[in-house]
Amino acid sequence: GHRTVPQNLPELQPDLPRGRLKLQPLRPTSGPRRQLPMILRDKFGRAITDLRISVTDRCNFRCVYCRSADPETYRDHEEILRWPELDRLARVFVGLGIRKVRVTGGEPLVREGVEDFIWRLSKLGIEDLSITTNGHLLAERIDRLVAAGLRRVNISLDSLDPAKFEKITRTKSFDAVMRGIDAVQSSPLAPAKVNAVLVRGINDDEVEGFAEFARARGLVMRFIEFMPLDADRLWNRNLVVPAAEIHRRIHARWPLVQIPHERSETARKYRFADGAAGEIGLIAPVTQPFCGHCSRIRLTADGKLRTCLFSKDDHDLRELLREGASDDDLSQYIRSVVNDKEESHHINDPNFVPPSRTMVHIGG
Ligand code: SAM
Ligand code: SF4
Repeated sequence: GHRTVPQNLPELQPDLPRGRLKLQPLRPTSGPRRQLPMILRDKFGRAITDLRISVTDRCNFRCVYCRSADPETYRDHEEILRWPELDRLARVFVGLGIRKVRVTGGEPLVREGVEDFIWRLSKLGIEDLSITTNGHLLAERIDRLVAAGLRRVNISLDSLDPAKFEKITRTKSFDAVMRGIDAVQSSPLAPAKVNAVLVRGINDDEVEGFAEFARARGLVMRFIEFMPLDADRLWNRNLVVPAAEIHRRIHARWPLVQIPHERSETARKYRFADGAAGEIGLIAPVTQPFCGHCSRIRLTADGKLRTCLFSKDDHDLRELLREGASDDDLSQYIRSVVNDKEESHHINDPNFVPPSRTMVHIGG
């Protein structure tokens, strides 16, 4: 009666809290099955609690820092996970301790059925359920999203000048996006989080304007450093507007007071010292990497698990699903993939090579 457990697979044994895998109770359980709630951890001890689910690689915008002007890279429909496949994976992830889900893309609102998916996610008991959208379809969809149980929404807006917005997104959707922001502001999801990616020489003159917008509208204005994930491979260090510069410029005009943040949060958060409404968030993956506290993994629209935006490989959950894997098989595979999450990205290494998947094919 002596059973040996393979020494190289401790992370595949959900019942054995040993090796590098740690299982932590989240809350007391009750009920007939008394399952031990668990949390995913990687071999560096980081708790992986956040999942970004990309529901489509399609998009109605073609932002210069993201998607090519002339994309010919859409995947065939059968390559994209179907809703029941997404439902099943979501359930498995929740069973593994995922507590925060962000639905993204591509543009998530272009996929029909996204509200129903969000409703099913909310029924799985996900505490923090959010969406990232370019806002084009938001005004007409906000009521359904709220009814579906969405808790938060991030809207991308890279210029307050309609002509510049058109250059950046290669659309005429400025007014529609502004209506989308207004719709969020007058919904239970207020305050909206508005994300801008600043690119030197394009919209870096708008830092103060965006801060003023946050104050006037009482919303959260977040600045994300440009990362080497653009389809046209234009990224270079000189195009990155460092978060420290953004902070300095806003602080000079309207002094900022830092707000405490959770360790795993990507944004440094600030309020205005003069008591004005609104908040500023600075996300500095390039100049101040936060990999050490990263809690995120990503599921691409074509069913690949990615442990980092900058991963060289992705891990094929779609194939496993379609080959008839059981929930246990899926869980074990996810655990082993998460265990090997990269320690950090290497954007700042002299010989850094961007991943072959660009942002629109990963899910931001
Ligand atoms: N289409 C939606 C949108 O634009 O909000 C969701 C998907 S988009 C890929 C998610 C986020 O990634 C957006 O806030 C976008 O600005 C950001 N993003 C795209 N390319 C980026 C890049 N190269 N560097 C930094 N952020 C980027
Ligand atoms: Fe589309 Fe969002 Fe990428 Fe812009 S940032 S091209 S809206 S996916």
